[in-house]
Parts: sequence; C-alpha cells; structure tokens
Amino acid sequence: MQLIDGKALAATIKDEIAREVDSLKSEGKKVPHLAAVLIGDDPASQVYVGGKVKACQKVGFKSTLIKHPATISEAEVLEIVQQLNQDADIDGFIVQLPLPDHINEEKITLAIDPKKDVDGFHPMNVGRMAIGLPTYLPATPYGIMQMLERYNIETAGKHCVVVGRSNIVGTPMSILLSRKGKVGNCTVTLTHSRTRDLPAETLRADIIIAAIGRPDFVTEDMVKEGAVVIDVGINRVEDSTRKRGYRLVGDVDFEKVAPKCSFITPVPGGVGPMTITSLLMNTLKSAKGEVYG
Ligand code: NDP
Repeated sequence: MQLIDGKALAATIKDEIAREVDSLKSEGKKVPHLAAVLIGDDPASQVYVGGKVKACQKVGFKSTLIKHPATISEAEVLEIVQQLNQDADIDGFIVQLPLPDHINEEKITLAIDPKKDVDGFHPMNVGRMAIGLPTYLPATPYGIMQMLERYNIETAGKHCVVVGRSNIVGTPMSILLSRKGKVGNCTVTLTHSRTRDLPAETLRADIIIAAIGRPDFVTEDMVKEGAVVIDVGINRVEDSTRKRGYRLVGDVDFEKVAPKCSFITPVPGGVGPMTITSLLMNTLKSAKGEVYG
C-alpha cells in the first residue's frame, strides 16, 4: 500500500508555482492577483479564506481579501462581483460559499465573469470541462486529477466508482475520469444515496472516489484488493482526548481499508491540501491567458 501524500504534493506544486511567479517577474510581467470575497463570520469559511490568502503570499501572488458582515444585501454583493469582473488587475476571484440565506448563491455564481471564475463553478466553465475545452477545473477534482497524474496511477480502462454526486466533487470527478486524457479513459459509475446496492458497485471498482460526508462510511468489505481509494470526506468526530474536542476523519475507514489498497489518501493530509493548490493553479492559468486567451 502506498500513501498518497497530499500535503507533500501540494508543497511541491506550490514551489513550482512560486518559480513561475519569479519568471513572470523577471520577464517584467504582472504578478497573478487573486481576490477572495468573504461574507459573514462562519468560522470554517474564515479558516478556508485565510488559508487561500496565506497560500497566495507563499507563492508570491498578490491577494485581496474583501470582507463584509452577513447583513450585506444581495445587490451589494452583486456590485462587488461587477467591480471585480471589471478590475483589470484581478486575474481571478472567488466568493466563499456558503453565503447567508438571503443571498442567492446561484445568482452570485452566474454574475462572476467566467474568465475570472477560478473556482470553476460557473456553468460556462462546467460546460467547457464537460466537452474537454480549456477551463478552470473545480478545485477538489483538479487536485485529485493532479494526485492521480503525479503518482503515475494508471486510469485508462479502469473501472472507477464515484460515491456522491455533488456539483463540486462527485459529478465533475465522474466527467473528468470518463473523458479522454492523460488521466481519464475510465469506465465510470456515479453512485449516490439512491444507488441500490452500493457495496456491489464499489467492490467492482479499481478506483473509488469517496465524497459523501459521512465518517468511515466506506468499509473494508466494500473495497476490492488492490484498489486505489481517494477519500474526499472531511468529517468531525468527537474526541475528548484532543484539546479541541474533535478530530477529522474521512469518508473511508482508513485503518481497515488501507491494507487492501494499492494507493490511498489519508485524512487529514490527503485531498484537502490539494484544494487550495488548485485555486492557485487556476489563477496562474488565468494570468497567463491559458483558458480564454
Ligand atoms: P454533498 O453533501 O453535497 O454530497 C454528498 C453526496 O453523497 C450526495 O450526492 C449524496 O447523495 C451522497 N450520499 C449521501 N449519503 C449516501 C449514501 N448513504 N450512499 C451513497 N451516497 C450517499 O457533499 P460534498 O460533495 O460537498 O462533500 C462530500 C465530503 O467531502 C464532505 O465530507 C465534505 O466536507 C468533503 N469535502 C472535502 C473537500 C476537500 O477539499 N477535501 C472539498 C469539498 C468537500 P444524494 O445526491 O442522493 O443526496
């Protein structure tokens, strides 16, 4: 069994990006600039956005954090989005989700200029992904594709079972792995809560992508010998031995499943660290005009 070390891979990719920023600078070109909009004081969102800003600093990007209280109106958020769309210095920006209930997330996502949509959530970019055009891939699937590529995991002709069909993880993962490409050419089964016999599906899988949001959901009797298991889940479970009172676990029962796997990602330190890296890669792509020219 080989562990896929997301933390180490993310550090390697960040180093590569930092070197690219240095060359852009030495060529007298503009430094990539990412903006993040944070509405309200959701603690998890604050941590995520803080991590994104810190990552920008680490690789030498310029970053702008725009913070507003949860009382801001939808019209005001739309106005901020328009300003960022028009600001020539900004290569890409994200509006951290979830937004307060009175703000329609779909409306905000649709208002973002697809050319600056480095989260890859705009339907234009999702459509481009589906037909294989250059695009900004959503962060988590992009990170997983990088892991598979850089660990030289063979995907062509393999049977991949994706568990979970969310717009941000499961569905894009199923599209990307089924397409032609260096990583891809899989035969994909996309499963969800209405799947009749999930263990029968996962047992046939050469590659399992678990994105459910339930601690230790994928057990050893659901995984065949030699499978590749990518655990996307981040779940808090109570743990009184920890200072903060909880620990993070994935959707896969790591201890029992790992011995059966050829490759597996841990939680924490697996898919999670790759997600921010993807955002940086998308911002760099935007700055270099690699998606829309
Ligand atoms: P969602 O809640 O949006 O989707 C969960 C999916 O799991 C749904 O499609 C749901 O099916 C399916 N599901 C739920 N119960 C079952 C079941 N019993 N059997 C089969 N399928 C089931 O979650 P996300 O995709 O947003 O996130 C999944 C997990 O990944 C979470 O733990 C989240 O925290 C984590 N995550 C981690 C990231 C990272 O960077 N590592 C990034 C994003 C998410 P249905 O559609 O039928 O309801």
